[in-house]
Amino acid sequence: MVVRGVVQGVGFRPFVYRLALEEGLAGFIGNDTDGVTIEVEGPAEGLEAFLSRLRAEAPPLARIDSVAARELPATGEAGFRIVASEVLGRVSTGIPADAATCPDCLRELLDPADRRYRYPFLNCTNCGPRFTITRRIPYDRPQTSMARFKMCADCQAEYDDPLNRRFHAQPNACWECGPRVWLAGADGAEIAADDAVAATIDRLLAGEVVAIKGIGGFHLSVDATNEAAVMRLRERKRRFGKPLAVMVRDLEAAREVCALTAAEEALLTTSARPIVLARRKDGCGIADAVAPGIPWLGVYLPYAPLQHLLFADRRARALVMTSANLSEEPIAIDNDEARARLGAIADVFLMHDREILQRCDDSVAAVVDGALQLIRRARGFVPLGVELPPGLRLEAPPLLAVGGHMKNVFALARGRFVYQSQHLGDLENLTGLDFFTESLDHLMRTFEIEPEAVAHDLHPGYLSTEWAKKRAAARGLTPIAVQHHHAHVAGCMAEHGLAGEAIGLALDGTGYGADGRIWGGEVLVSRLDGFERFAHLEYVPMPGGEAAIREPWRMALGHLFRAGFDVESDGVLSLLGAKAAEARVLRRMMERGVNSPLTSSCGRLFDAVAAVVLGRRVVDYEAQAAIELEGLAVDEADEPGYAMEIAGGDWSRREPVRIGAGPLWRTLVDDLRSGVSKARIAARFHAGVAAGFVRAAVLARAATGMKQVVLSGGCMHNRRLARLLRAGLEAEGFEVFQHRRVSPGDGGLSYGQAVVAAAILAKRR
Ligand SMILES: [Zn+2]
Ligand SMILES: [Zn+2]
Ligand SMILES: [Zn+2]
Repeated sequence: MVVRGVVQGVGFRPFVYRLALEEGLAGFIGNDTDGVTIEVEGPAEGLEAFLSRLRAEAPPLARIDSVAARELPATGEAGFRIVASEVLGRVSTGIPADAATCPDCLRELLDPADRRYRYPFLNCTNCGPRFTITRRIPYDRPQTSMARFKMCADCQAEYDDPLNRRFHAQPNACWECGPRVWLAGADGAEIAADDAVAATIDRLLAGEVVAIKGIGGFHLSVDATNEAAVMRLRERKRRFGKPLAVMVRDLEAAREVCALTAAEEALLTTSARPIVLARRKDGCGIADAVAPGIPWLGVYLPYAPLQHLLFADRRARALVMTSANLSEEPIAIDNDEARARLGAIADVFLMHDREILQRCDDSVAAVVDGALQLIRRARGFVPLGVELPPGLRLEAPPLLAVGGHMKNVFALARGRFVYQSQHLGDLENLTGLDFFTESLDHLMRTFEIEPEAVAHDLHPGYLSTEWAKKRAAARGLTPIAVQHHHAHVAGCMAEHGLAGEAIGLALDGTGYGADGRIWGGEVLVSRLDGFERFAHLEYVPMPGGEAAIREPWRMALGHLFRAGFDVESDGVLSLLGAKAAEARVLRRMMERGVNSPLTSSCGRLFDAVAAVVLGRRVVDYEAQAAIELEGLAVDEADEPGYAMEIAGGDWSRREPVRIGAGPLWRTLVDDLRSGVSKARIAARFHAGVAAGFVRAAVLARAATGMKQVVLSGGCMHNRRLARLLRAGLEAEGFEVFQHRRVSPGDGGLSYGQAVVAAAILAKRR
């Protein structure tokens, strides 16, 4: 039989070996191209039990997608063997994702009688680094950064014993033979310490900033309960607003700092160990500077033995563990690189000598509207593929989708699988592009995918678009341009196997539109291979272009101008905290259409409202204003929403409906002036936006007869908006679909691009 799924490097062969012995079966197992091949012979009841237990008792990291079994004549085998990969032809290609320390290893780590007591790199076939330590396929020790560590006799014996938990555990190591940790100063010199981990905790508790080498890169760490230490880290990083992730000892400790739902607890403890955005408890002792201005905390649990050790003596309660980089640069992985880039930030470095070969940030997830939502899909998920549902009847030729611009993630696709890269950050400079090409080369080798086509965004100015076009020309690939919001919507359709047509709501930051304008509040009548624009938020000017994203007060000025307010009046100036002179300049720009591109972005509407309600003039990180606005309403009951205006639209002539925010602004400003609480205003605003789009969806159904709605775009990270939209649409009788395995934001864009490209190519053939 042939078993497909995630069955290599996860202890599957020793599991099958034990199973065969227990059921008294003879035969063999070996890895093949994309799974394992098993031949067993023996009594019928044994074979039957073997088959059912194969699925029921598979090891924790394994994922069985299919078992294809057929009968063969008995060959009279005696005993059960694990055969070398080469015997079955082409060598295996899979590299598993990194997995958190398993309970068995954790027990050994903390057991003074165990030979690996407090060993920071212990692992087994059920846990440990995988993707981040692998240079090339096949996933075997010589191809990993463990190659330079020769196993001692004890480790080798475990590695060779099919009944041992460490049978073929490629990163197997111990105090005798494996990597080591040490503390170093900013100059690189080792700081003498009996126990580098204990010395690190001393430093952290004294308020120092420590760079700690992890699984996918370095973290910058400080004591999360020490306000001054957190501020020190922020000042040195020159990042003041962006929330920092906090690691705590275990689930019990996480419950002390956050009010967790069962779904959030389940998410926290998966082997991928993502950062989970959860509701922070008041008075939980975490420094305010960790996540200023918002009611959530990004919390996660240790996933590497070294991290468990930092909490083992219970002196450290909560540690900030944030990716060691400057703003959106790639995370630092190399010891020398870390010293060079972080020397001015970290007081000391907790180093180790197991090389990190693939940069990989921590993943970020949340439970939104009752279901898992991936915000950043990286460590623990990469390089696992996402399968296109069979109902889609879509097979992709080998292709590459390069993603967008911000929060870039690319995807490779072949057949029914789309493999997304780790989060690569913003492709704004050459460092970002280097990371992109380095990671692309690695994943192309890993999956042996040589693309025939390359999908890219419609935006002519994106570095990713430019790169894709050059690549297509140089290698004779078919280039396919995909509109940004169509990619968002098609991705969500594909996740749910919707092969026909659907109404797609793409509520997003910005994306280049088919008319050259900046879209982002879109109702698209969508197929996988194309779309029509049914409705959109009314265009408003962005005075100063990109500057209006960094300075939301400009966006508010644009919106108020569009809504008919006199933007030089004292009333508006005081709302915005703006000076008459600057308002005059921007007004002229908008009137003359100079440096004031038009946008239908929903994210920009949130920014504009946040600028007025919260008085936030400048943002420190993307979507900050919108996130704070959502946070403001977190405890507020549902309110009737501000009205939005529906105008224009003629479906027979494909003329889109316009959703105007004029009435919304007028009521909102009245509310502000009459002293309605800001929390209540924020709640009414969310409800108004949701209701406006629900009305547009109802019109789209009337015009097209479609009853299925998919929700996508970066604004779907907003819990309140996601919940209100779904509830509103369901109340109108729609069937509603949201992203589950792919991010609704730009981290999921390449998945959607790959789907659209595959659908277009399938149609052409
Ligand atoms: Zn383990
Ligand atoms: Zn050893
Ligand atoms: Zn987007």
